[in-house]
Amino acid sequence: MKAAVIHEFGSPDVLRIEDASAPRPAADEVLVRVHAIRVGGLLDVGTRAGRNPFARLTFPHILGADFAGEVVEVGDAVTSVKPGDRVAVTPFVACGRCPACLAGRDYGCPSAQLVGVHRQGSYAEMVSVPEKVVRRIPPGLSYEQGAAMALSGPVAFTQFSVVGLKAGDWVLVTAAASGLGLVTALVAKALGARVIATSRKDWKREMLRERGFEAVLDTDDDAFGNQVGELTGGQGVAIAVDNTSSATMFPEVQGALARLGVIVTSGAQVAEPVPVDLRSLYLKSQSVIGIRTHTQAALDGFWRLAGNGMETLVDKTFPLEQVGDAHRYVEAEKNFGRVLLTID
Ligand SMILES: [Zn+2]
Repeated sequence: MKAAVIHEFGSPDVLRIEDASAPRPAADEVLVRVHAIRVGGLLDVGTRAGRNPFARLTFPHILGADFAGEVVEVGDAVTSVKPGDRVAVTPFVACGRCPACLAGRDYGCPSAQLVGVHRQGSYAEMVSVPEKVVRRIPPGLSYEQGAAMALSGPVAFTQFSVVGLKAGDWVLVTAAASGLGLVTALVAKALGARVIATSRKDWKREMLRERGFEAVLDTDDDAFGNQVGELTGGQGVAIAVDNTSSATMFPEVQGALARLGVIVTSGAQVAEPVPVDLRSLYLKSQSVIGIRTHTQAALDGFWRLAGNGMETLVDKTFPLEQVGDAHRYVEAEKNFGRVLLTID
């Protein structure tokens, strides 16, 4: 089968299209014909460049994490999908045995494996993956949309489940024009929240305005705090999702938070240490929590929710043969929405 293979860490030039042997599914695995793969910053570009601290690869290695495709064969123990099913796959394979997994909080699993990092990935015509990370996608949803939401959708669903979002809650989503941010804002809206989406770039805010959120704001604007106050009747937002970890933005996010409010993070794209005002935190009984990824339950919950016609934005697709260009494009951070590889 055709696959994009790396034999060493390095620039996008280390990605080579080669002939690799097709995998066979183990008893608890599903063999999927891959049609669309998300190209992401940490799991894809970071792993290829040797910057992913979790990546200890055996070369040759096939990259590729979350993706969508068609089931072609299932192992003997597989019951939830069958050949011909259209599916999306997340890369986070929790162990299922540790205290976090047994408590249904598998995002805290210390020994989870990642497709495309600890296992061979999806930059290939075929990949075999554990049944528990495979879910059927809604009829009518394209493989591109399936791949674009396969990981970020369940992560957002997990965040809002853990913090107990209720319909009508005000939710602030920072960097809402990023691939993860837009899906997060869409999930909040689909769950009945009133969403304030933010971006620090003019042209990205313009595109966010077409998405039907309650408000689109700029956290750098001096009026930001007042704007949130006006929208929320002086209360602030119940939930703020901030996956940026920006030292200049975080105080604005905390300032927008209501009493008993929660800031939740599942990423640190800017990766700066941020100042937390503990005095305000305790006086207003607020919290800040981190959630690494998703639960198994959120895979079911998200795909049920997405069946109501949810679609995110796909910025650009590249055929697998142009995987190097796709990596360069993601590294240049030119995208609004998802960047995908496709295989016919
Ligand atoms: Zn575990």
